[in-house]
Amino acid sequence: MPLAPPPPLRIGLTGGIGSGKSTVARRLASHGALVVDTDAIARRLTQPGGAAMPALRKAFGDSVIRPDGGLDRQQMRQLAFADVLCRRRLEAILHPMISDETQREALAGIAAPVVVFDVPLLVESGRWLDLVHRVLVVDCSEDTQIARVVRRSGWTVDAVRAVIEAQVSREQRLLKANDVLLNDGIDEAELARRVDVLWQSWKDLGAPTL
Ligand code: ATP
Repeated sequence: MPLAPPPPLRIGLTGGIGSGKSTVARRLASHGALVVDTDAIARRLTQPGGAAMPALRKAFGDSVIRPDGGLDRQQMRQLAFADVLCRRRLEAILHPMISDETQREALAGIAAPVVVFDVPLLVESGRWLDLVHRVLVVDCSEDTQIARVVRRSGWTVDAVRAVIEAQVSREQRLLKANDVLLNDGIDEAELARRVDVLWQSWKDLGAPTL
């Protein structure tokens, strides 16, 4: 009978907005990691007909629903930033659903050497810390975050700053890190090289014990 593969190493991948998480996740996937993207799961839950939509409509009313039935993310973001109670209600609806879906997707990676949970708010919502063996933080300066998001998404500087301020500080995030990729002052090719070195170091760790 063939031996069962060792359990995958579970990595929590996090970093501030625009730090380079998705770029890192893609490189890790090219090495054979299964990437569970919690942002993509949240988008699916809130698209037209998405599983979270009835509860969101009930909690926040029609003003956060687009004509096609999906969540008006900009409207919802404004509400959540302006009012902490709204943010908590939103989280109370979405987080358990995201957790369930994340677990389901992670099961598909049972034979992968590494499962990467891409969780922008991993440090903020502490519960993820218990589910992973290691935390990988992608780190860069606030100026770099702003420049990237303005260039990539056309946001205003103030809009990016508001998100950065609502996220945990760079220092607090780094305190939780087992691995750090400094993604500042380097191009994407150099970032990829650093990811490759990190991947090798994980392989050298052997089977996870948790
Ligand atoms: P978000 O939090 O908004 O989802 P993210 O942390 O996943 O962002 P990415 O989408 O990977 O960040 O990167 C943000 C933008 O910056 C992308 O357009 C990406 O191509 C670019 N980028 C990332 N790293 C570098 C780099 N080292 N040099 C140049 N551009 C980069």
